[in-house]
Amino acid sequence: MSTIETGANVRLANHPIARTKAVAVSPLAQGSLIISIDSLATVLLPSEKGRRCDACHTIPTSLRKCSGCASFYYCDTSCQSMHWKTFHKRMCKHFNRYTTSSSFQALAAHEKMDALLLSHLAVLVPSQEVREEGSSALAVFMSLLPGSVEVATPPICTNGSPPSPETLRFLFSRFGNNNFAMHSHFNTFGHGIFPLGSRLFNHSCLPNAAAKYIISPSHPPKMHVVALRNIDPGEEICLTYVDPALLQSRQQIFELTYGFKCRCSSCIFVEGLGHIPELPSDPDGVARVVRKLREFVPASSHELFSKTKKLPDELLCIFHESFLSRISETFSNASHDGPYDLALDVGETMLQIYQLIYPENYPQIGLHLLEMAKTGWNQVVSTGSSNVDRPRKYVKQARQILLIIGAEGDDGGPLKEIQTLEDLLNTQ
Ligand SMILES: [Zn+2]
Ligand SMILES: [Zn+2]
Ligand SMILES: [Zn+2]
Repeated sequence: MSTIETGANVRLANHPIARTKAVAVSPLAQGSLIISIDSLATVLLPSEKGRRCDACHTIPTSLRKCSGCASFYYCDTSCQSMHWKTFHKRMCKHFNRYTTSSSFQALAAHEKMDALLLSHLAVLVPSQEVREEGSSALAVFMSLLPGSVEVATPPICTNGSPPSPETLRFLFSRFGNNNFAMHSHFNTFGHGIFPLGSRLFNHSCLPNAAAKYIISPSHPPKMHVVALRNIDPGEEICLTYVDPALLQSRQQIFELTYGFKCRCSSCIFVEGLGHIPELPSDPDGVARVVRKLREFVPASSHELFSKTKKLPDELLCIFHESFLSRISETFSNASHDGPYDLALDVGETMLQIYQLIYPENYPQIGLHLLEMAKTGWNQVVSTGSSNVDRPRKYVKQARQILLIIGAEGDDGGPLKEIQTLEDLLNTQ
C-alpha cells in the first residue's frame, strides 16, 4: 500500500469491507481536480477508428496511416513514434492477420474491445514474469483485485514473445471490474486501463466525484477525477461504476461483475421500498402519477434519503427503471420535432426523477437541463413568442452544473453549446 502514489489530495485508509478507501486529505472545493491519472493502455471503439489518432485520441484535420498495417492512424510522426515505441512495434506485423482470424471474428463487439486492450497490455508485460512491486501504472494494475467471475481469456494479437497463458489469465481477470469507458462530451469513444483510478476509488450510487477524460495532441489520454461537491477532510471519495439510474439491475451488476453489495444510502433506500410496481398501463394512470410527483418535490435526493419526507405509495412506480426509459423516449422524440409543450412537460418530470436518483451536480442533470433549454428555445422560435424566461432559467442551471465537471474530451461540447444558446437568448 505504501508504494502507491496517491497524489497530494488523497490518501488510502482502511475500509471495513472493501480493501481500502480513498479519503480527502484536506477540504476539496466543488469542481476541483482531485487527481490526474495516467492511462496504461487505451483502444478506440471501431466507430472512432480512422477518425481519432490511435495514440492521443484527438480528432485532427488529417491523419497519417501506419504504412505497415494500414490499420492505425496518427496525427503526426510524434504520435506515431510514441505509439510505435510503446505498443505498435510488436503488433504491427501481426495485426491484420489477428483481426481477420476466425477466433477474433467470432467475438462479440465488447469482447473484441477487451481482446484488443488485452493485446496492448500484453505488449507491456515482460514475458514470464508478473511483478506486483513498485509504483508504476503496470505494477498498480497487477495489484488490483480480480473480478468475481472468471471469464475465458480472449485470443490476443501475438507479438513474438507473448506472456504465458497464466499471465494473460491473471491480466484479463482484472478487466471487467476495473477498466473504464473513456468519454468525450459524455459519449464513449474508447476503453482504457487507468490503474490508479481503479485502485483508489470505491463505488457509490451517490458519488461525490466523477471521472472525465483529457485528450490533447501528442499525449496519451488522462483521467481527471473532479469533486462534484465540497468534500470534507477525511471524507471518502467515491466514483460510480454504473449508471445509478439502473435502480433495479445495478445491485445485480455489483454482485456479478464486482463482487460486492452496495450499501450506499440510495441502495438502502431502494431496498426499503420493497417491491417496486410497474407503471400504470393506462395514460390516465400515468398522468395521475406525474401530477402526484409534481406535488411531491423534495429539494434533492439527499432530502429524500434522509427520510424527512415520506414517499407516497402511488409514487413507488417512478423508481421502476421502465418509467424513466419510457418518459425519456417521449422526451427525446418531442424535443426535436415537437410538440414542444409535451417535451417540456415530460422533461420536467424527468428532471424531478433525476434529482431523486442522481447525486448533487451529477453531469446527467446538467445535460438534461441543456436539452430542456434547447427545447424551450425551439418552442419560442416556433410560436414566435418573445418570452425567453424558461429557456434562460434552464440554461443558467445547466451552466452551473456542467461547469463543475468542466470541459472534457474534444473541444466544443455542452459548455460551448450553452454559450451559443445564451448568445441567442441575449439577442431576444
Ligand atoms: Zn495524436
Ligand atoms: Zn501498423
Ligand atoms: Zn448504491
